[in-house]
Amino acid sequence: MNTSPIIIIGSGMAAYTLAREFRKLDADTALTIITADAGDAYSKPMLSTAYTQGKSAAQLVTMSADKMREQLKATILTHTRVIAINVAAKQVQLASETLDYSKLVLALGADTVKPKLEGDATDAIYSVNDLEDYARFRTAAEGKKRVTIFGGGLIGCEFANDLVNAGYSVDIAHPHHYPLERLMPEVPGMAIKNGLAQLGVRWHLGFASAVNHGTDGLVVTLNDGTTINADVVLSAIGLRPRIQMAQAAGINVQRGIVTDRQLRTNAPDVYALGDCAEVAGHVLPYVLPLMAQARALAATLSGTATEVAYPAMPVVVKTPACPTAVATANPLDGATWQVNCTEDGVCALYQDAEGKLLGFALTGKETAQRQTLAKQLPPILN
Ligand code: FAD
Repeated sequence: MNTSPIIIIGSGMAAYTLAREFRKLDADTALTIITADAGDAYSKPMLSTAYTQGKSAAQLVTMSADKMREQLKATILTHTRVIAINVAAKQVQLASETLDYSKLVLALGADTVKPKLEGDATDAIYSVNDLEDYARFRTAAEGKKRVTIFGGGLIGCEFANDLVNAGYSVDIAHPHHYPLERLMPEVPGMAIKNGLAQLGVRWHLGFASAVNHGTDGLVVTLNDGTTINADVVLSAIGLRPRIQMAQAAGINVQRGIVTDRQLRTNAPDVYALGDCAEVAGHVLPYVLPLMAQARALAATLSGTATEVAYPAMPVVVKTPACPTAVATANPLDGATWQVNCTEDGVCALYQDAEGKLLGFALTGKETAQRQTLAKQLPPILN
């Protein structure tokens, strides 16, 4: 019998949700969690609403690594990076030692996409994808006034709203004429844009090409030559699943680390979940999918092979300036957006040729329909 522990790499929501679910089913099997960060538990979605809620990075911690060790009855190695995986020997390589595993779970998260920029101040650009990033950004923005955000996606829009709420003057550079264009059609997208503009956010069409030190703080230059003066720059142009280490170990990767519905990679006893994973063809970097994955994988790891099922999982965009909920669907031949605007907001429904609901984007008070509509959507994975 293999007495090596189950090793989970990562201590984000995917890793810790899995560990909690696993402990509900198996109180005894040795569990080792290895994490490059401090191992404190926190809810990542809170990062983009923390100013409004008056919370510092430290105040976002819901449970310290020490308490997590106790609660999970796990060994948690913090500030420890796994540098390689040997799937044949069933070992992970740390800087100064090698650890055996019985089963290995990759919960590695995603990297922020770095903008390609000219200029002498490119090292003054922040991105926020974990608690430590957030602490650095808060320190940099302390006592400053003007923040320029790159990217009008979900995270860029949420930070814009949060920073305005905290009294910052916010500019957003976004290369499309409305935000969140990959998730919704123009009308609800414009509602978000206008809602944030009414709060005072200045929108710039384009993308940044350079950031330089100027006489008055930083100067951001856009591709059309427009310049924006800023004290702090926050890049929110996207996330990319962390696949390199898995790929180097011979594990199949595409957009994410490829798994089947049991979260199994092609390597024996190696699983993946959360933002790093591509599960049965889906990369869904949100909380609800990772929770469904964690429940299924916990059951599998404790002896009952279980496939993950995904119902439709709408995402709430945390922009109080324009409350928004969106359920995306892959573009389908013959399907179209039916957009209705009322005084209360926008109700955009994505329907197939027979009128069957496939997705939606709701703004304002129309978001109240979110749960009712979600019930009509087909599951993502049955
Ligand atoms: P992460 O939390 O990134 O964890 C990855 C872990 O792996 C970290 O502990 C890291 O240290 C560790 N790691 C990586 N490589 C190594 C290595 N080689 N060795 C050791 N450790 C390693 N989703 C929603 O559904 N709703 C929302 O409202 C929402 N808001 C969001 C707001 C923001 C600002 C952001 C950034 C994301 C938001 N999301 C939201 C997405 C959601 O938070 C993520 O999908 C989720 O937190 C991902 O968890 P994870 O555990 O997969 O990754």
